Amino acid sequence: MSETLKLAAGSLLVGIAVLGLKVLAWWMTGSVALLSDALESTVNLATAFAALVAIRVAARPADSTHNFGHHKAEYFSAVLEGVMIIVAALFIMREAYEGFLAPRALDAPVEGLLVNLVATAVNAGWAWMLVRRGTALKSPALVADGKHLWTDVLTSAGVAIGVLLALVTGWWILDPLMAAMVAVNILWSGSRVVKASLSGLMDESVPEETLQKIRDIIASEADGAVEAHDLKTRHAGRATFVEFHLVVPAEMTVFDAHEICDRVEAAVARAVPNTRVTIHVEPEHKSKHTGIIVLD
Ligand code: ZN
Ligand code: ZN
Repeated sequence: MSETLKLAAGSLLVGIAVLGLKVLAWWMTGSVALLSDALESTVNLATAFAALVAIRVAARPADSTHNFGHHKAEYFSAVLEGVMIIVAALFIMREAYEGFLAPRALDAPVEGLLVNLVATAVNAGWAWMLVRRGTALKSPALVADGKHLWTDVLTSAGVAIGVLLALVTGWWILDPLMAAMVAVNILWSGSRVVKASLSGLMDESVPEETLQKIRDIIASEADGAVEAHDLKTRHAGRATFVEFHLVVPAEMTVFDAHEICDRVEAAVARAVPNTRVTIHVEPEHKSKHTGIIVLD
């Protein structure tokens, strides 16, 4: 098992443990704010699950029934989880609304807060671990996961302070108020998860700077060709797919045209990792002279 996989599985286990502790804290106190904090952990569970799917399923090589690979498995799980997160946020909002109409004192607030504190400490420790190992392993995904977990630790701290304040002042309305704020935050992050995954499922093209890089490479590596046009890109998970038409002199041999293609493919693959390039070769009279990459 690779260390990346171990860390991804670890995130899932830590996420489940933290969720369990936070649900316990809610159950002990009846605090809507602590419930919202617990449900926020589902966001981390979702991310951890998607990361695990990405490593296990999405990284599987292409096979006879999935000729282009399995990259989209990652998006599929993320959309599913994102929708669950949004449902969780709506659930909290309903609970907060009820609490708002009829604020009530919490049961065992001190004990509940202590359990919640343990869960937050576990999260903080794991976040620190992810950032440290992610940096060492040069994995931007792990570092991003760790940093995201840090923001959750901050939210949890905010929630705990809110509940503590409610306890000290007796303003129990602070509890549903805090929960509503967390719910809005969850809604926002959940919709971002869904949006990012949907654009991947919709075959979004590569970012403009990557596209420009690909254009420049074609222009500089395709010596001997006349022009390139109909450049199309899409990305799926870690994979990028590039295709375009390459116009060559009509009398050029297949051998020479293929030579150019191999050269361009290799250069693009060097510049943009995990790229598959497909080139359609055409004779000169197919020139478009519009939307083309001009070659000298
Ligand atoms: Zn063409
Ligand atoms: Zn070939």
